Amino acid sequence: MKKDSFYITTTIPYVNADPHIGFALELVQGDAIARYQRLYGREVFFSTGTDEYGQKIWEASIKEGKNVQDYVDHYAQKFIDLKGTLDLSYDNFIRTTSKEHVRATQEFWRLCDVAGDIYKKIYRGLYCVGCEKFLTEKDLMEGVCSLHPNKTPEMVEEENYFFKLTKYKEQLLQYLSNKKVIIPEWRRQEAIDFVKDGMEDFSISRNKERFSWGIPIPGDDKQVMYVWFGAFINYISTLGWPDSKGKFEKFWQEGKRIQVAGKDMVKFQSVMWQGMLMSAGMPATDVVVYHGFITGEGGVKMSKSLGNVVSPNEIVKEYSTDALRYFLLREISSFEDSPFTMERFKDAYNSGLANGLGNLVSRILTLSEKYLEKCPEILEHSMPQEFKDHLDKFEIQKAVNFTWNEIGALDRFIQETEPFKVVKTDKEKGKKIITDMVLRLYTIARMLNPIMPETNILLKALIKANKKPDKPLFPRKD
Ligand SMILES: [Zn+2]
Repeated sequence: MKKDSFYITTTIPYVNADPHIGFALELVQGDAIARYQRLYGREVFFSTGTDEYGQKIWEASIKEGKNVQDYVDHYAQKFIDLKGTLDLSYDNFIRTTSKEHVRATQEFWRLCDVAGDIYKKIYRGLYCVGCEKFLTEKDLMEGVCSLHPNKTPEMVEEENYFFKLTKYKEQLLQYLSNKKVIIPEWRRQEAIDFVKDGMEDFSISRNKERFSWGIPIPGDDKQVMYVWFGAFINYISTLGWPDSKGKFEKFWQEGKRIQVAGKDMVKFQSVMWQGMLMSAGMPATDVVVYHGFITGEGGVKMSKSLGNVVSPNEIVKEYSTDALRYFLLREISSFEDSPFTMERFKDAYNSGLANGLGNLVSRILTLSEKYLEKCPEILEHSMPQEFKDHLDKFEIQKAVNFTWNEIGALDRFIQETEPFKVVKTDKEKGKKIITDMVLRLYTIARMLNPIMPETNILLKALIKANKKPDKPLFPRKD
């Protein structure tokens, strides 16, 4: 990577429910990449936020008998609180109801309008409030929305504004012909197929009578913006565009632009948003990294009704932030669906952290405290190339596996060399082995920086102080 400024975003979730573990995965993945890039001296801007407009939110606020702004404030706070819960290092949290975002969205609309890409059209079709979109043949199952079978779709006819996405068909195919724009590479075909077969101009407004909780459209007080159009613009409004251009220039125009999203977002992030950027005359996203979903046991969807929903807050309370980050980044595939159960979590915690890392730290530092006068001299720049290669390709799980392979190798090294025996017969030789072990442990500690930031700091401090931990880093759970 040549560029020195590095920009990374997550998608922004709807604020009509508590944060779930799937979004925690996206945040922690984004955070690990941001921290890794900072280690390399790149200037990083990491952004996340919340999507607070839309009919679903409006209806949910009525259901709870709350004023809609109070309702979104309440839920947005739960997402803001994840910063501490998950130890996130983001630089800005953007809310779509903020003044800056509203202003940016209206300005972006104006740019697309000037480009001749916004027009009015009468639309008639079945509308699903759950999806907040008109349903197509593919969405229907026995006359109802396949995602919301309990919400009867309404027949709606109205005049809406449309965005001329089809105008950018060739330009989008050109963009998608670059293998690097989508990770994992095999999801790229999905985007290409959508552009070739399924892509249409999309509606970007709603009639105010039916849908009032949205951003006003410049010059038309009968319509408000449709959630999708407005939500995408958070990726540049968070940088202060259009009022202050400094961060926008540094990170969006000149930086490396990385966006993390779920695998169901391919046509939104890699097609619709890219078409909007082309219309506004802005550079396209360099890479969109798509993660899979976290499922319940046996691959079933997590849902309240099945009672298999896992709350990131509860896991952190029972274990720790770093324990959750470890599980999300190592036991959950970086790109494919993976199951999450408390059983799996506990097993992974005990084997990888209590017995694995925790035990290793205690063994090595007990020896060094006893036999070395002080911490050996540390060469600061010793991050293994293989670890870096994985993270440069956003293969976080492989990077974490590499780290734990090193932990296993160091464990075997202790068993084979038996420094605790050697030091009693040949003191100098024993001390040399212990010194090697401490240096290797320090390299492991450095690799923990993007994965488990708190453990990284603690472990480096213990090594430098040449002290064994007072209590186990990761107490075993039964
Ligand atoms: Zn639906």
